[in-house]
Amino acid sequence: MISRRSLLQVAAVPAAAATTSAAAPKNLVIASSNGPDCCRLAMEMLQAGKDTLDAVVAGVTLVEDDPRDTSVGYGGLPNEEGVVELDASVMHGPSRRAGSVASLRNIRNPSQVARLVMTQTDHIMLVGEGALRFARAHGFAEQNLLTEQARLAWLVWKQSLRDAGGWNNWAPGLDAPDPAPQAWLRERFPGATAEMLAWAWEVARHPPTGTISCLALNARGEMSGVTTTSGLAWKIPGRVGDSPIIGAGLYVDQDAGAAGSTGRGEENIRVAGAHTVVELMRQGRSAKEAVLETLRRVSRNYGDNLAKLGRFDLNFYALRKDGDYAGGSLWDANVTGSRRVRRQFAVNDGGASRLEDCAYLYERRP
Ligand code: ASP
Repeated sequence: MISRRSLLQVAAVPAAAATTSAAAPKNLVIASSNGPDCCRLAMEMLQAGKDTLDAVVAGVTLVEDDPRDTSVGYGGLPNEEGVVELDASVMHGPSRRAGSVASLRNIRNPSQVARLVMTQTDHIMLVGEGALRFARAHGFAEQNLLTEQARLAWLVWKQSLRDAGGWNNWAPGLDAPDPAPQAWLRERFPGATAEMLAWAWEVARHPPTGTISCLALNARGEMSGVTTTSGLAWKIPGRVGDSPIIGAGLYVDQDAGAAGSTGRGEENIRVAGAHTVVELMRQGRSAKEAVLETLRRVSRNYGDNLAKLGRFDLNFYALRKDGDYAGGSLWDANVTGSRRVRRQFAVNDGGASRLEDCAYLYERRP
């Protein structure tokens, strides 16, 4: 249970690298915690002299293509009708351009489509059917993005919804020979392991968010960023989160720095989070101070009511033009039952990618 006394309003001890400012720009890539591979590929591209935006888009493409990440691209958890809808945005620092797509169906790489909106149109954002037609026009292949694992989780979610009498039209009825709730699932998904079924029940009960945001700086001081997601699981069709909103899920200003976000998008949109982080860095705050101050505004929106704040999490990633960087979260950890996972973010400064602890506003106690 969360009590005010059990919470410390202190920031985590930052990783040493997060507090130092580099005098000269250097190649540096940061991302949300699902991004070590993404950072590695983006770094390889920076080292090969490729453009910063091409590097981060190539990096997140790995995650969009990976069916094991159920929060991004192919294999993402679907909306309430079982359809995967993807959101993404990109910003290119040197040219000060941006592009985004929202509620895009059937195309596994929305970040690449967002980059094309930036380079091949006179617009910044395309949504829904228009975004799909645009992607089709540019030769993107259409496919069903719903994997069997995601379909299993979606059906479990539908079965978990009950009216006051315990009825659910999507679950076996009174006349079913075997009333065991999971019997039909085992029949319909013979390949599903016990672990997969347990995961499906967990995500049905606690609709997860998840996303990848990746920011890069190169040795010439150029910066770019991308954020891409399947958004909130079981969302109302057409729901758009913060990820494709320039200034919320992503913001890059070549003069100051870059910021991206993951977590409950609705909270981020209300504080124009990524733009706020970048503005604070422009005013001279460190990356860590900027993410924490932005999170304080989120907390303020709920009058610092910890019971309400405890129902979601929000994370920011910040990279200053001089190489100072940080990840910051509303909460120190994600707690599921007795499992406590420290909030972290991925960093690559030229070697292997590593995870560093996020700074945070509040501590969760089991
Ligand atoms: N921010 C994303 C959204 O609200 C989801 C997430 O990052 O978890 O759509």
